[in-house]
Amino acid sequence: MNILLLAPPAAGKGTQADLLQKKYGVVAISTGQLLREAAKKNDMLGLKLKEVLKTGQLVEDGIVLELLQNRFSELQGSSFLLDGFPRNIRQAELLDKLLVNTNQKLDYVFFLDVPKEELEARIISRRTCEDCGKVYSVSTHSLDTCSCGGKLIIRSDDNLEAFQKRYDEYVMFTESLVPYYEERGILYRINANRPSEEVFSDIEKILESGIND
Ligand code: AMP
Repeated sequence: MNILLLAPPAAGKGTQADLLQKKYGVVAISTGQLLREAAKKNDMLGLKLKEVLKTGQLVEDGIVLELLQNRFSELQGSSFLLDGFPRNIRQAELLDKLLVNTNQKLDYVFFLDVPKEELEARIISRRTCEDCGKVYSVSTHSLDTCSCGGKLIIRSDDNLEAFQKRYDEYVMFTESLVPYYEERGILYRINANRPSEEVFSDIEKILESGIND
């Protein structure tokens, strides 16, 4: 059972990925998280990524694809959950090729739908664990440490200016993936403007119907 989460920034992809990983044992692969880890290194790539990520612009396909391929090669037959890739039609075609070459397929694409005003409110209150990437909201979590013991920080791109850039990129490029996967009959729209447990419950119902397995 391979899953893809499609959503605008701050729609709760990371939280749902975490819940899906715990319940179904799928291996969550977040290209944003892979890039943030690569950006922590002080090599040429790390320094370049730090700058791009701060602005909210997309990273070049070649860099993202290489990190993704490395991660895929470690899967060893486990089901996967993709979060943050593909972000445009070109990347979706690259993913199609990667899946054909590794004899795999996508079974479910969940589109997490949240209005822009709500996303802006979430961005302002979001804190992210420096170590494991888990996300919290200051509106419900008053501590500055994660359940793993890591420090909670404000991501360099979690501000309204970078959000606007990321949202524009999303509207311009990523939204076109909705019809791309709809045509294949594997896309499910989820109202994600609700508490994360309710969103997860809708996803669970679809997965447990086994409709695409
Ligand atoms: P995310 O954690 O998914 O919000 O991604 C954070 C940032 O990582 C994005 O704003 C982009 O700069 C970069 N990024 C993540 N995934 C991709 C991708 N598939 N293609 C290009 N850039 C990406």
